[in-house]
Amino acid sequence: MNAKKKSAKSVVAVSGPTNVLIVGVGGQGVIMVSKILARLSQMQGLQVKQSEVHGMAKRGGSVFSHIRFGEEVWSPTIPMGEADVVLGLEWAEGLRWLRYLKPGSGTFISDTKRIVPPFSCRDRHHDALHGYAHHTVAEIVKQVPSAYAPNATGMAIELGNERVANTILLGVLSTVMDFPAEDWLQVLPEFVPPKTLETNLKAFEAGRHWTTQPPVPEVQEQAVPQPQAPMRRQVSLEITGEWCKSCDICVKMCPERCLALDDHQIVELVKPNACTGCRVCEWLCPDFVIAVHVDVVPLEAVSADTTTEVRI
Ligand code: SF4
Ligand code: SF4
Repeated sequence: MNAKKKSAKSVVAVSGPTNVLIVGVGGQGVIMVSKILARLSQMQGLQVKQSEVHGMAKRGGSVFSHIRFGEEVWSPTIPMGEADVVLGLEWAEGLRWLRYLKPGSGTFISDTKRIVPPFSCRDRHHDALHGYAHHTVAEIVKQVPSAYAPNATGMAIELGNERVANTILLGVLSTVMDFPAEDWLQVLPEFVPPKTLETNLKAFEAGRHWTTQPPVPEVQEQAVPQPQAPMRRQVSLEITGEWCKSCDICVKMCPERCLALDDHQIVELVKPNACTGCRVCEWLCPDFVIAVHVDVVPLEAVSADTTTEVRI
């Protein structure tokens, strides 16, 4: 699901500083996005103040950055209810900071990507409900003056690199700010790795383009049909070994102790039959190494192990 609700005006404040609050979880690039915005503001000859909290980048913790720019800026932190834009790189983090959005004129931009923290998922059974924010995108869009909620991570995957989701959101942000598009394109190469520049430029354009497309009507959630016997779940773990930084988080946090580091310190699935497909490893890995796929397949198509590993 993605959605948008446009304001007719640019969000740049007419008087006083413009306030942009960028939030997400560790590893998503909150600081990179805020540095790009700060650099752009400097290019316009504006004063910029930035304050940030980070340090949980390896553990999926909350990260946020306040950016304030204008003719004169005195304080580096945005008061509650004064943010012209809240930019969420993760859905629940975006919602958590919504109280900072300026009532009546603020713009909420967020990826609909959900990174569910492990302690919201204490029930170890298959398909157990978790305590993560349950608001739908449509409910949030209705509540705020202006909103853009693309499935940025899904778009980034289509571009071939999940990590450029933040640049897609930057492209969306660029359409609500007064800075010239050429300035954004000039600054972007300073902050992204050279080998990903081409994909980042495509991602930036994809974000801008997305804002011009008609909103996708909300699809009513339908009851998932129960599989007829003899069907059963088949879980597969897709592991991109070359991205693994051997941090051990997934190994320690897997509720069923299914994972281990191999001789090269790369994660591997060692107890396939114990894996429930709970996705905790996928949610927690700061480097997007693990993707959990759950399919319902005919019983005869299930492999000997209920969970299989696909190593990339
Ligand atoms: S390997 Fe991943 S999906 Fe399987 S039980 Fe462990 S945390 Fe859950
Ligand atoms: S796969 Fe596991 S060990 Fe490797 S980076 Fe991700 S969380 Fe760390």
